[in-house]
Amino acid sequence: MTDLCGQMKKFIWGSQQEDAFQKMKSLLAQETILTYPEFDKPFVIYTNASECQIGSIVRKNEKQLGFFSKKLNETQQHYPVTEQELLAIVETLKYFKHMLLGQDIIVKTERKNLTHPNSTHTSDRVLRQRLLLEEYGMELQYIQGERNVVADVLLPLPTAKLFLLSEEEDFPLNLVLIVQHQLDDKKLQQALTSHQPGFKKIVRKVVELYVHSHQETIYVPASLRASLLQWYHLTLQHPGIKHMQATLKENFYWPGVDAAVETLVQKCNTCQKCKLAAVKKYGKILLPASSKLTPWEEVHVDLIGPWDVRYNSMAVKP
Ligand SMILES: [Zn+2]
Repeated sequence: MTDLCGQMKKFIWGSQQEDAFQKMKSLLAQETILTYPEFDKPFVIYTNASECQIGSIVRKNEKQLGFFSKKLNETQQHYPVTEQELLAIVETLKYFKHMLLGQDIIVKTERKNLTHPNSTHTSDRVLRQRLLLEEYGMELQYIQGERNVVADVLLPLPTAKLFLLSEEEDFPLNLVLIVQHQLDDKKLQQALTSHQPGFKKIVRKVVELYVHSHQETIYVPASLRASLLQWYHLTLQHPGIKHMQATLKENFYWPGVDAAVETLVQKCNTCQKCKLAAVKKYGKILLPASSKLTPWEEVHVDLIGPWDVRYNSMAVKP
């Protein structure tokens, strides 16, 4: 696509260009889309370092402004972890210099010793990097490993999907909660001890998350299913069975998830009231268990007002 923009280039629109265009469209439609910075609140940088790569996310007001990741060269791979994490911060600052220099910056790091301003400088390199941090005048804050889900977005793990979802309003699950409840889920533990196929363990620092090995979707323990189903059903504005099953299964899995969705949709009062007409003209009205069946057994009265009524900009008595 970029090639087509050159002045001396002949404009050719073939299947390759069409493919690139369609791909761009779908990428733009995804949730990971970035937003523009507002300069009145601090920028928050989350960093992470693994054996062979460093990565970070720059955020503001809970929105992503930019992602950064870089492969470590052979020498850097032998750095102590703290120095790798320091490198991640430094490289992020350099990469986003145009956006970050002169702004309020908070860096969240899992390395507690980085947050002490007087920590010893083990080499000239570290000293130079420390000086660069001072140039930006940032605040370094310690963040616990389990909470640094953000940086895992850079690593190919299902936790990345969970992170994006937990940005949504009222989303009932988070990584720590799922991990705790997975330990208490009897069926899952039984399946694991009897080595049933279909499960895969993902170890993230101190936590172990079990996922469905086929599509790497997160295994939802029994105790969390109801709230997740409710959230999906309301957030998707009462979808049909198929639509809800497909959306939920993009990220989550448990045995019998399809049936659970079907039951929920069929029992949802709102869905029945609104959608029954389209399918069947006449049918049973769904009544709450406590409904009275004889006329006048229950009478509802409601009062509203008083109102301020204006007519031709004059106040009139209703
Ligand atoms: Zn519904």
